[in-house]
Amino acid sequence: MSRVFIVEDEVLVARDIKSRLEKLGYQVIGTAARGDDAVSRVLSERPDLILMDINLKGDMDGIEAADRIRAEADLPIIFCTAYSNDETLQRAKVTVPYGYVLKPFDNRELEITIEIALHKHQMEVALKAAGVRLEATLQNLDDGVLTVDQDGVIVLANPMAVQLLGRSKAVLMGLNAETVLQFQPLNSTGTVLDIPGLLQGQTALPVSFDRQALLRQGQDSLPVDVGLNWFSQGETSLLVISLRDLTTQIAQETQLVKTAFYDDLTSLPNRQLFLDRLTTRLISTRGEDGQDPVPFVVVIISIEGLSVINQALGFSAGDHAIVEVARRIQRIAQPDDTLSHLGGGRFALLRSDGRDPGLVLQAVESAQILIHENIEWTPDSNVTVDSHCGLVFGPGEYVAATDLVRDGETALGRAKTEGLAAVVFDVAMHEKAKAMLLMRTKLQGAIDQKVLRPYFQPIVDLKTLKIVSFEALVRWPISDDAFIAPDEFIPLAEKSGLVLLLGDLMLETVCQQLKAFNSKAIDGFSIAVNISSEQFTAALVDRLDQLISEYDLQPEQIGLEITESVAMKAIDSNLKLLETFRTRGHKISVDDFGTGYSSLAYLKRFPLDTLKIDRAFIQELAPDTDDFIIAKAIIDLGHSLGLKIVAEGVETQAQLTLLQELGCDLGQGFYFQKASTGEMISQCYERGLPLGRAQTL
Ligand code: C2E
Ligand code: CA
Ligand code: CA
Repeated sequence: MSRVFIVEDEVLVARDIKSRLEKLGYQVIGTAARGDDAVSRVLSERPDLILMDINLKGDMDGIEAADRIRAEADLPIIFCTAYSNDETLQRAKVTVPYGYVLKPFDNRELEITIEIALHKHQMEVALKAAGVRLEATLQNLDDGVLTVDQDGVIVLANPMAVQLLGRSKAVLMGLNAETVLQFQPLNSTGTVLDIPGLLQGQTALPVSFDRQALLRQGQDSLPVDVGLNWFSQGETSLLVISLRDLTTQIAQETQLVKTAFYDDLTSLPNRQLFLDRLTTRLISTRGEDGQDPVPFVVVIISIEGLSVINQALGFSAGDHAIVEVARRIQRIAQPDDTLSHLGGGRFALLRSDGRDPGLVLQAVESAQILIHENIEWTPDSNVTVDSHCGLVFGPGEYVAATDLVRDGETALGRAKTEGLAAVVFDVAMHEKAKAMLLMRTKLQGAIDQKVLRPYFQPIVDLKTLKIVSFEALVRWPISDDAFIAPDEFIPLAEKSGLVLLLGDLMLETVCQQLKAFNSKAIDGFSIAVNISSEQFTAALVDRLDQLISEYDLQPEQIGLEITESVAMKAIDSNLKLLETFRTRGHKISVDDFGTGYSSLAYLKRFPLDTLKIDRAFIQELAPDTDDFIIAKAIIDLGHSLGLKIVAEGVETQAQLTLLQELGCDLGQGFYFQKASTGEMISQCYERGLPLGRAQTL
């Protein structure tokens, strides 16, 4: 029930109105006859509605009383008056009455006026609350919000808008939006947001647009997301513009892109981004039809010597070297080039202008010189690294970026194996690479089907020419009387991981052959097997044990030939392995001795039996040559260490005589006998015949 207060100076009229209102269902909570009395009672009793006579007794009339009430409280007031001149009505209007009733009034008229007033007031209260909420929201919003009228005048700006625009609210309000809202697209290809155009209705409201940079006077521009909405209010329309500061978001996005596409260590583009740029280059070159595409070049750079630095000085020194090298390569890069760190000691450079191959090679050479300069690690320790480069020119027939990189790597591989600073990829190299791949597949098949088999070359005592052992050499037969030489497939097997399978096949077939010899009582010699560096592990011990028991052999019958580098690796595990093999009875030979870097004095530390002087020293053996001096030194020092010396590649009687004079113990070479099959050896032993010049008896 609504509570009504009546202000009426005529007591009878007041009473009449009161009873009418009560009949209509209102509660009359009081009446007052004087203005001042009315104000104080209304303010303390807070009715839902006031019915106010304009003409009151005393100093204060109804209009003034209403004024005072409104100043203190938001209550609906209906004026009622018996007469009214224009001046009075004008005054009444200012107090925003909720209605008038003219006396005398009928009940219906009164009720309608009261109900309208109550409803209107209720709506206003609700609207006000909504307004307060909206205001609070706008105050606290993370987005800047500006409302602009059709003339572009700013009519509302929330605190965030004030902050983003860097002007006070007082300055903003009433200002034309154009003066503070000037944009530029954030990325070069974007469109500019045109606020004046929008306001004049020339430009339709865009559904979406690119991020903008908000240009600010005397401040950095600000990356923002802009939201636009027309809002109509009666006849007029307002444009609501929201601005979201993207600084943090863009920083996060940039960081994300950085981790996905850039290398942590050097901050250079990673492989992914490099391939991306290369692809873009390939596509853009293809697009310009009619014109000859501008050649570019991909340079793959490999840094040598990092593992030594890592081992000697730690990984941070290695990392430091990589960063330094990156900086140096960057020095020869041109603005359009892309330098990428592929990982480890690998870099790739996309040189945008490859028109003059001579210039490109010159630049690569300068880079390599820079790379080779001292790198300071600590004030008193410097390190140096070396490099190889593989170059491939594009676009040529290339379609895929990965193919270019692959061919760059192939060229790099050749630079490494041939000890060249830089190699340019050509089609022949690609053919060779393809042939290698084919060869690998075939080799795999030959191993799987056990087509590979050992031949045996005798090693003889140089005094008696009697055979003391054989070296097992792998052969790949391709027809009855032809085979592929090991030099053509052993390097490939080593590169492609097939060497373990190959080595194991050799071990097994050699053991089979030994068993066959044993069964025919052919003996008095051992067989040495070539062991590649990957094969030389603890697993080899177990495998040999297993084969020896399976084929019923003695460990002394099997010798191992290892390379100088395997033998000299001063790694504890290698030393232990060598000891294990020797305690079991296997003889250890160091192959190709003299070609590596090891010093003879170093040999003392290793448990070995035989040194094989590389055939390079034997080939041109003549008195007073360097080779002669080296051979003599090896023989003498070897002997002082208790080692037996084998001369490899003995081809002539003259060489034999010299070696005998030098006191060399053993010899192997075509002069005595080439490698032969097990069957051939069996026949000679059984018949008591020599194998070439090598004696079986
Ligand atoms: P290597 O271990 O130094 O083997 C000796 C090579 O010298 C053999 O070549 C042999 O035929 C050759 N040779 C022997 N006497 C003479 C001579 O008087 N004059 C000349 N010019 N050459 C002579 P081959 O059989 O072609 O083997 C080449 C290389 O392949 C071997 O060098 C060895 O490093 C590797 N190899 C052979 N068989 C195996 C194997 O079963 N496993 C592994 N890992 N490597 C093997
Ligand atoms: Ca050998
Ligand atoms: Ca050798």
